[in-house]
Amino acid sequence: MNLKVLKFGGSSLADAAQFQKVKAIVEAEPSRRYVIPSAPGKRFSGDAKVTDLLYSCFDQAQLDQDIDESFDRIVKRYEEIISELGLTLDLQREFEIIKTSILHNAGRDYVASRGEYLNGLILANYLGFDFIDPQKYIFFKENGSFDSERTNVILSAVLKGHQHAVIPGFYGSMPNGTIKTFSRGGSDITGSIVARAVGADLYENWTDVSGFLMADPRIIDNPKVIDVITYKELRELSYMGATVLHEDAIFPVRYAGIPINIRNTNCPQDSGTMIVSDASSYNSDNIITGIAGKVGFSSIAVEKDMMNSEIGFGKRVLEALEKSEICFEHLPSGIDTMSVIINTKELEGKRDFILSEICRLTVPDSIEIEDNLALIAVVGRGMVKAKGTAARIFSALADASINIKMIDQGSSELNIIIGVEDKDYIAALQAIYAEFIG
Ligand code: ADP
Ligand code: ASP
Ligand code: MG
Repeated sequence: MNLKVLKFGGSSLADAAQFQKVKAIVEAEPSRRYVIPSAPGKRFSGDAKVTDLLYSCFDQAQLDQDIDESFDRIVKRYEEIISELGLTLDLQREFEIIKTSILHNAGRDYVASRGEYLNGLILANYLGFDFIDPQKYIFFKENGSFDSERTNVILSAVLKGHQHAVIPGFYGSMPNGTIKTFSRGGSDITGSIVARAVGADLYENWTDVSGFLMADPRIIDNPKVIDVITYKELRELSYMGATVLHEDAIFPVRYAGIPINIRNTNCPQDSGTMIVSDASSYNSDNIITGIAGKVGFSSIAVEKDMMNSEIGFGKRVLEALEKSEICFEHLPSGIDTMSVIINTKELEGKRDFILSEICRLTVPDSIEIEDNLALIAVVGRGMVKAKGTAARIFSALADASINIKMIDQGSSELNIIIGVEDKDYIAALQAIYAEFIG
């Protein structure tokens, strides 16, 4: 039988009206049997997410400040949902335990996790599903990394005993039993872990957009929705800032070959985006799947005549980076030049050290750091077959009078990375989008 796991994001569960949409979606198909809720998100722009309210409650308690008012604000969010849904559920005791724990030095992750925990209790009650607390079944290792194998064995076994269940997102526990959360947006990861554990046919990730868009909607007006994207393409785009899905969320389902379907809770009729490991059975004429980018990079340009024939030159540049504990993003090089592209934040307090290390190890003719660089990733599995993609990008940028500072093409021909000045970032994204997508 077809089996689906559904994760609903914060905006999909922000108030009672959203809960009603969620119930209608779950009940529309009998295969929708396992549901992962986030904590209530923003109801309108300027509203607060419950997770953020919990973090500030925790911070206040650490400073010995009064938390009555801010904790009441959280309680009210849940009480409103319960009463507007007409549920008889009473969470008074839960609220008291949480408040007392915050006042008695509960851990930061425990406090943050209560957003999902409480929302899970309400959703389970509302749907008539069993409530499964991930504290007992999702595990982290001593070093803080997710323990995928132990989790998978134990979670699969327990979920076999539940036909329908709600499993709160975002957290699990450490070997000593204390609660630990994933990083922000981590309910996406829980959804993926549950999908793998129950051997789902599909992981539906329900959010507030009708799928993964070909570009950031804050920069491009009404970007088109991507119908089908591969895990690899998604990773390239997510890494460069298209953050619809937590970047670690793909690993458990990818391992198990389960596709992800991004859907819109507010427009359930839209088919959304399918994320798959192999898109060859889907027809597409698109050369480009999506475009994403980020500002705030720097380049260190090292020049030396005959660099190309000096054995170990690149190794020595990398050694200098290692000594300075700096990660790099790209390493484009020419015959007599080599550039290292770095997130500018990485350079904080280390500029003089890295320059002197590179000079000491490579004795270059010149070396220079340039800041205010933006990187744009043009990603598409269709680029392998299409000729002249780079040329089209260059002419689109030239027509918009944008100077290209760097280019780097991945060996998989899945992406082309373009570096431009920060000030040209938006215009460059718009020019590339217009050239390929219209
Ligand atoms: P949820 O709370 O449901 O987990 P998120 O806020 O984490 O939702 O992710 C959805 C948001 O991601 C959208 O509302 C949109 O603003 C943003 N976003 C950024 N880049 C893209 C993109 N390429 N496609 C779709 N949404 C994007
Ligand atoms: N509620 C958590 C957050 O705001 C986790 C999530 O929404 O996925 O980051
Ligand atoms: Mg999210």
